[in-house]
Amino acid sequence: MPELPEVETIRRQLAPMLEGRRITNVVVTDPRWVAPASPRGFSNRLTGSRIESAGRRGKYFDFLLDDGASLVMHLRMTGNLLYLSEASATPSAHLRGALLLDSGAALAFTDPRRFGTAEVIASPEAVDAYFAARLGPEPFDDDFTGERLHRDTRNRKTPIKALLLDQRRVAGIGNIYADEALHRAGIAPHRRAARLTRAQCDALRDAIRDSLTAGIDAKGASIDDFRDAYGVQGSFQDQFLVHRREGLPCPGCGGPVVKTRVAGRGTYFCKTCQRG
Ligand SMILES: [Zn+2]
Repeated sequence: MPELPEVETIRRQLAPMLEGRRITNVVVTDPRWVAPASPRGFSNRLTGSRIESAGRRGKYFDFLLDDGASLVMHLRMTGNLLYLSEASATPSAHLRGALLLDSGAALAFTDPRRFGTAEVIASPEAVDAYFAARLGPEPFDDDFTGERLHRDTRNRKTPIKALLLDQRRVAGIGNIYADEALHRAGIAPHRRAARLTRAQCDALRDAIRDSLTAGIDAKGASIDDFRDAYGVQGSFQDQFLVHRREGLPCPGCGGPVVKTRVAGRGTYFCKTCQRG
C-alpha cells in the first residue's frame, strides 16, 4: 500500500506536468472510483478546470483547481497514478478513470483491487474540514514534535506501532515506515505507547522523518504494485533495515530480524536493538 513517500514521489513528478494545465475531458471507466458522485457529474465538474497546484496531505493527493475546489484522490491498496505524455497511450488494464489535459497528456488511475477513490471537494474550507476529520499533523511540519507525540501517547495502552498507523496521530505512515522508524528509534513495535519516555518520543519523531526521507530519496518502495508516475518501480525495498527481512541480519547487531503481528499487521523488528 502506498505510504507518504510513494505518494510524494508521484506528486513531485506530476507537479511540473500538471500545474497550469486545463482538464479537457474526464473518462470514468469504473463508477466505483468516483462514488457517490456519478461518472457524468464527476466528469462535468472537472472538465474545463485548470489545475493550480498538485499537493499532498498524508497519503492523499490534493490537486487545487482554479475555482478553489480540490480534486482529492487516494490510492488505497493498489492504486497507481500514471502520467502519459500522449492520451492515446491510456492503459486498458485495471483502468478506473483518466484526466485528459490541454497539453495532450493524460493522467490515468489504474487499480487492480479497486479500493482507490477520487472526489471533488468544493472549497478550501471544505478541504480543510475533510482533512481535519481524517488526518493529524504532517510528519515534516513544525507542529509534529516529540512533545506532541509524547502527549498523544499518554494513557494509551495500544502498541506504539498501532498508534503510528493511526492517521489522526500523524499522517502518512503505513506498515513499512512504521517498522523502519521504530527500528531506527530502538523501540519495540509492541511496546505500549504510554510507556514511551519523552526522550524516546523525540527519537521516534526524528526516526519517522529519517525513514520517510530515505523512502522519498529512493522514489518509494515497490514491494507490491507501487509504480511511480512513469510506471517505474521505487528502490527503497532494497534499503529496508527490518521490514520484510525475517531471518536476515539486523543492520545494528547482526542478530536475526524477527517477524510478529502487531495491530493485525505483519511486523518486523530486532529483539536486541528494539526495547520492549
Ligand atoms: Zn539488532
